[in-house]
Amino acid sequence: MIKTKQRGLLIVISGPSGAGKGTICKQLIQHNSNIIPSISMTTRSPRENDIPDITYYFVTKEEFEKKIKENGFLEYAQYNENYYGTPKANIEKQLNEGKDVLLEIEIQGALQIKEKIKDALFIFVLPPSMEELKKRLILRNTEDNEKILKRFKRAYTEINELPKYNYVVINDDLDIAVKQIEAILLAERLKVERIEEVYVGNQEEVIHELLSNKDFQNSISEIK
Ligand code: 5GP
Repeated sequence: MIKTKQRGLLIVISGPSGAGKGTICKQLIQHNSNIIPSISMTTRSPRENDIPDITYYFVTKEEFEKKIKENGFLEYAQYNENYYGTPKANIEKQLNEGKDVLLEIEIQGALQIKEKIKDALFIFVLPPSMEELKKRLILRNTEDNEKILKRFKRAYTEINELPKYNYVVINDDLDIAVKQIEAILLAERLKVERIEEVYVGNQEEVIHELLSNKDFQNSISEIK
């Protein structure tokens, strides 16, 4: 009866460092085979739990800057003295094949995507409180205190940009946060804007057919 767009969703998830975006994204990918993660390129050093070419493509500053010159990024930004960027390759292709592409990126990059891709979906993940965010950043134990402080300060700046996003999810309980994002994705897929065609047939033909049916005619006269 209706034909909807087969193009996948470009999902952009941002939020302060420590809000739990990474864990949420991992779960979304595990539970939804249609969601493909975009692998970012970065100049930051790998952490203990990083897997090169899976969590990030780790490159030197020179390699990153070369790719900028070649116009190889859909977006890129500097975050705490390091570059992070989304390689262009494959994203359009995957969207056109109906795959949903998930970008877990910071706000400057998200705003670049907003300019370029009008139908992208922007979700902001918040921690339940700033106190909890501080605790999570310290407990994560992946960086020295100076870096933790920088991330914490930046969280305040990022939260000011919340109104530029389409949806907000508070990550207090991981399972609930993941379910909420799945509900957002479902609602997005059902949007009227995604309908390309509505098939209702030719009204006159359908009515003519109905009226030529003897039983139907009889039932009408009975009612009369
Ligand atoms: P982390 O160093 O904790 O892995 O990432 C730091 C920040 O960079 C996070 O907010 C993360 O979402 C963001 N980030 C990761 N990849 C990209 C990217 O490709 N582009 C942009 N703009 N930000 C990214």
